[in-house]
Amino acid sequence: MTQQLDPASVKGFLSPAEGQMLASYAGEGRGIGALVEIGAWCGRSALYIAHDFAGTGQLLFSVDHHRGSEENQPEWEWFDPEVWDRQAGAIDTLPHFRRNIRQAGLESNVIAMVGDAAGIGLTWRTPLGFLFLDGNHTMTTALADYQAWAGHVVKGGFLAIHDVFPDPADGGRPPFEVCQRAEKSGLFAGVGEVDSLVVLQRL
Ligand code: MG
Repeated sequence: MTQQLDPASVKGFLSPAEGQMLASYAGEGRGIGALVEIGAWCGRSALYIAHDFAGTGQLLFSVDHHRGSEENQPEWEWFDPEVWDRQAGAIDTLPHFRRNIRQAGLESNVIAMVGDAAGIGLTWRTPLGFLFLDGNHTMTTALADYQAWAGHVVKGGFLAIHDVFPDPADGGRPPFEVCQRAEKSGLFAGVGEVDSLVVLQRL
């Protein structure tokens, strides 16, 4: 790691082992096409993926509406009052994201795209070498993100999915089902997994 800010020190849900695996496949994928992550939160995954990007001109496009998922809302399990914007009456992780990306010296490399990921994916036209799906985990949104973005991953490129829990007792099923759908499509094959991260390669 060349940056000053340890990704594990910022708010987030990715384990160090998952972060390192993401960085490794993003490093391979950057020779193939553009890099995109869906679900930014406060920037932890972006810091892992872009850890060696400073001064290189390499970009990571980081897509998030920055309003949090269901489980992050007030009264829910993963609510964090530090990301609550009282004036907006809503979660706003964008200030945290910007601060962390700036402190890591990656403002030129990590490009925030603020809005609905599926909508942005439908108008995206650049081939991808690496796609990380870690957005909202309802079946509707997880599937919409997959359908809008996975088709942009080109041959040899990578599709990484977070929060894949084969056993429903461990967590919600939509990311697992999206993962199964990708493999059953015949277009992707598993190449790596650690903790709840699965990485597939476009055949
Ligand atoms: Mg996640």
